[in-house]
Amino acid sequence: MDSYDVCVIGAGYGGATAAALLAHSGRRVALIEKTKVAGGKVQTVDRKGYRFEMFGAVGIPAHDSRFHELVEVLDIGDQVEFLIPEGDVASIRYKAPSGEWRTMYSPLQMTGAPEEMENLQRVFGASDEELEALAELYTTILSLEDEELEALDDVGMLEWMRPFGLPKGLESQICMNLNTLFVVPVDRLAASEAILTMRQQAMGGAGRYSVGGYGRLAEACADYVVQHGGAYLPKQRVHRIAIEDGRAIGVETDDGVLRAQAVISNAGIQPTVLKLAGSEHFPAEYIEFVKSLEPSWAIAGYRYVLDKRIFDAALIPIFSDQSWLDDERYEAMEQGSWPDVPLIAIDVPSEFDPSLSPVPGHQIANCQVFCSPDPESSMGEEAVRRAEQVLDELWPELRNHIIRKEPYGPKAISSLSRDSVLPGRGGEAVGIAQVVGQVGKSKPDARTPLTGLYLVGCDAGGRGAGTHQAVDSGFHVAAMVDADLG
Ligand SMILES: Cc1cc2nc3c(=O)[nH]c(=O)nc-3n(C[C@H](O)[C@H](O)[C@H](O)COP(=O)(O)OP(=O)(O)OC[C@H]3O[C@@H](n4cnc5c(N)ncnc54)[C@H](O)[C@@H]3O)c2cc1C
Repeated sequence: MDSYDVCVIGAGYGGATAAALLAHSGRRVALIEKTKVAGGKVQTVDRKGYRFEMFGAVGIPAHDSRFHELVEVLDIGDQVEFLIPEGDVASIRYKAPSGEWRTMYSPLQMTGAPEEMENLQRVFGASDEELEALAELYTTILSLEDEELEALDDVGMLEWMRPFGLPKGLESQICMNLNTLFVVPVDRLAASEAILTMRQQAMGGAGRYSVGGYGRLAEACADYVVQHGGAYLPKQRVHRIAIEDGRAIGVETDDGVLRAQAVISNAGIQPTVLKLAGSEHFPAEYIEFVKSLEPSWAIAGYRYVLDKRIFDAALIPIFSDQSWLDDERYEAMEQGSWPDVPLIAIDVPSEFDPSLSPVPGHQIANCQVFCSPDPESSMGEEAVRRAEQVLDELWPELRNHIIRKEPYGPKAISSLSRDSVLPGRGGEAVGIAQVVGQVGKSKPDARTPLTGLYLVGCDAGGRGAGTHQAVDSGFHVAAMVDADLG
C-alpha cells in the first residue's frame, strides 16, 4: 500500500496549489485528479491543435496576484509566463436606455486619465458631479482599514454602494462587473469580499492569462509535486476517504488505498463531507451546516473557434441597465421574465495568446451567461439562446465564421468539477456563494471536524474572485496542514 504525508483530492487551482506548496515544504504528496488535466474548472484542453479552457478564464487581479506569488515561491518562472496585454484590450458594449448600443474601449487597468472619464460620460451619460461620486466610491474602497472591511462581512454590496449616489449606467457597470466576478446576486454579495476584489482590480488591473493556456500554472504545480518526490495521478477518481478510528487516513481509488497522515479535498465541501467521507463521521450540526450552504450560480455558454478575428477585444462585457442581477431579477429570470439583454461576458483567449490557435488569425472565444447551478435545470439553454440573439445583433457575421462551437452549462461544470450530492447543486461556477452569512467567520473552516481531513479551493480557506480565491486558499491550507503535521 502506497503511503504519503498528504493526499490531495483534485488538481483544481486550490488542490494543485496546496499540493505543490506542501511538496515545497518537503512533504511527500499524492495529488489525485479524476480528469486528464490539472486546472479543474479552468483546465486548458487541446482540440485539433486549438487550445482553450473548458470554462472561461481570466485572472483578477492581473498584476501582483496570488498566481505571481506561487510562481515565485516555487521558483518556476521558466515554466509559466503571464500575459497581461497593454492598450485598449477591453471593450464594453452597453445598451443605453434609448436602445442605442454604445461601445467603450479601455485598458485592463483604469488610470483615471481624462480620456477615460470622457468615455464614461459619453457611454453612461454621467455628469461631472456623478463622476465625482464614482471617485468618492473608489477613494473609500482604497482607504478602508482591515477592521472596517471585516465589519462589512454582514453587509450586502448594493446596500453599501447606494449612498454614493451613482447614476444608473455607472451603477450597472459596477454591478455587472461584480456579478461576473462572484456569480452571485449583488444585493447579498458580502461587501467585504466585493470591496477587497475591487481594490485588487483598481491596483492590479483586470485580466491575466498564461502562455499556452490559463491552466498552465496548475499543470506546472502537478509536475512540481512529481519532481519533489510525490505522485501526480490523473484520470483517477477518489471514491472514498478512508477513515479509521475517527480520523482520515487516506483515500480509496480504483487502484486501492493510498495512506496519508492528512487528506485535503478540492472536491467541494458538500461532495467531500456528504459523499466521499460520509455524514456518519461528522456531528449532526456540522452536517446541517454543510447542507445549508448556498452555491454560487452557474455559467452557461459557448466555446467558439472562429476562422477570422470577429471580436475586437480580449474582454467584452455586454449589458444594459436591466442586465445585472440581484435576487429579485434572478428570480424573475427563473420565472421566465428575462431582461432585454442577458448579462454576457465574452473572453477571447487568443487575444491574450495568439499561439493558442494553430492557424494564424483564427480566433478562440468564450461567450458566458448566468444561470442556475442545478445540473438538471434548462435555464442555461434559455440564457444561451437569448445571448445568441444579442450576438447576432452585434456581430451579424459571427455565424458564418464558426469552425467549432461547444455548448456547456451546469451539467458539464458539475461533471468536470464537483459531484451533485444535493438537489440543485453541483454546477456552481465558483463554489460556495460569497454572500452575507457565508464569508469571513461564517465561511466553512478549512479544517473539518474529522481529524486529518481538510478542505481547499473556493469553499474554504481563501478570499478573492474565482481562481485567485482558490490559490489563496491553497496557500492558507498548505500552511495549516504543514503546521498540524509538525
Ligand atoms: C464558465 C466559468 C467561467 C469562469 N471564469 C472565471 C474567470 O474568468 N476567472 C476566474 O478567476 N475564475 C473563473 N471561474 C471560476 C473558477 O473557475 C473557479 O472559481 C475555480 O477554478 C475553482 O477552483 P477550485 O480549486 O475551488 O476547484 P475546481 O476548479 O472545481 O477543481 C476541483 C478539482 O477536483 C477534481 N475532483 C473532484 N472530485 C474528485 C474526485 N472524487 N476524485 C479526484 N478528483 C476530483 C475535479 O476534477 C477538479 O479538477 C469561472 C468558472 C466557470 C464555470
